[in-house]
Amino acid sequence: MNFNPDIEFQPRAVIKAFQEEKMKKQLAYLKANSPFYQQMFAQHHIDVDKIVKLEDLRHIPFTDKKDLQLHNMDFLCVPREQVIDFITTSGTLGDPVTFACTDSDLDRLAYNEAVSFTCAGLTQGSVLQLMTTLDKRFMAGMAYFLGLRKMGAGVIRVGNGIPELQWDTIQRIKPDSIMCIPSFILKLIEYAEANGIDYRKSSIRRIIGIGEGLREQNFELNSLGKKIKDKWDVDLFATYSSTEMSATFSECQYGCGGHHHPELLIVEIIGEDDNPVPEGEVGEVVITTLGVEGMPLLRFRTGDMACIHPEPCRCGRQTFRISPIVGRKNHMIKYKGTTLYPPAMADVLNNTGYVENYYITLKTSDAGTDDVIITIGLRDNAPLDAVKDLKDRFRAKIRVAPQIVVAPAEAVRKVNFPAMSRKPVTFFDERN
Ligand SMILES: [Zn+2]
Repeated sequence: MNFNPDIEFQPRAVIKAFQEEKMKKQLAYLKANSPFYQQMFAQHHIDVDKIVKLEDLRHIPFTDKKDLQLHNMDFLCVPREQVIDFITTSGTLGDPVTFACTDSDLDRLAYNEAVSFTCAGLTQGSVLQLMTTLDKRFMAGMAYFLGLRKMGAGVIRVGNGIPELQWDTIQRIKPDSIMCIPSFILKLIEYAEANGIDYRKSSIRRIIGIGEGLREQNFELNSLGKKIKDKWDVDLFATYSSTEMSATFSECQYGCGGHHHPELLIVEIIGEDDNPVPEGEVGEVVITTLGVEGMPLLRFRTGDMACIHPEPCRCGRQTFRISPIVGRKNHMIKYKGTTLYPPAMADVLNNTGYVENYYITLKTSDAGTDDVIITIGLRDNAPLDAVKDLKDRFRAKIRVAPQIVVAPAEAVRKVNFPAMSRKPVTFFDERN
């Protein structure tokens, strides 16, 4: 099977026409099978036969996370007996949202990961150590496994955490690639250094990151990416994906944004006025899934802010690339005249050697404006003027300095790791 699909190397007009054909099929499918969209089409008098160009999509209302939460099972387009895999994602109103994949959806997921891994340079015979959870109702780990299997690559399912087990496996099986949350790589390096493992001479040549960005908007490595690369000269690849998209944007070897796979997803970038922004401008990523059978989504607001880069890539693909995620739309902060997102602040903190741990709190000031308070735990090597130094670092990077509070590292750790949490919690939005 070809995991470098021809369509990705075609001119943009060809890609657009290709997507329009897929879109029409998906709309007809929703009209025939989706209780939620049947209701929406009826309520808004939408004749899907009149939606023929990608631009016509704007006549259809958006779907958001709240819709998924409130009408969860109305999105299901097949009888329950056809669902193979039940997945949950975090909802917006507290309860998780159920996602359902049919057999054909699992094939689509496998295909999606196979083209994404191929984009990141993996081939048949590559061996990847998977440092993500495979169960716990998540889609991601399973999708990676299915994709690697489909392309004939080897996979070692170690799961997340446990640096000792990760290194034991690397030394035993000698994989060439790792897939994990990038900040975990720092833990791996720390463990290797403490235990005399010569990680630079290990078999690993490539790290594919999930869930955290590795690059700035100009595609230079961000401080987390640099920190990894300074210590360990391996190739780094960032990816962007979500359960709702059931698709992945992966970087190619040129590391300039995640490539769009036009057979899987239509993407719109939407501004604050709910209209598409000009190409290259940041807005909310809105997706329409293509080829999904179980729970297809139409104009779904992801809440992620990014922009697209339409120019053809040096790898030959003509599909657009999506920028590193700037932040979550509802985490947007207006602070001292600047628009900020938590990831940019986290990047400064992650890159400051004397910061042991931290959390970011947003509050509404008495004047009704956004306030940012960063609570940090310090390492023993912290300078006496750590707060002033850190503020200077913030000003250099994001032009403004938030309020900084020093707390015992142990107290910060307790806030970072509440019971049942999958990832450390470092962000609290307490705004009105
Ligand atoms: Zn490329």
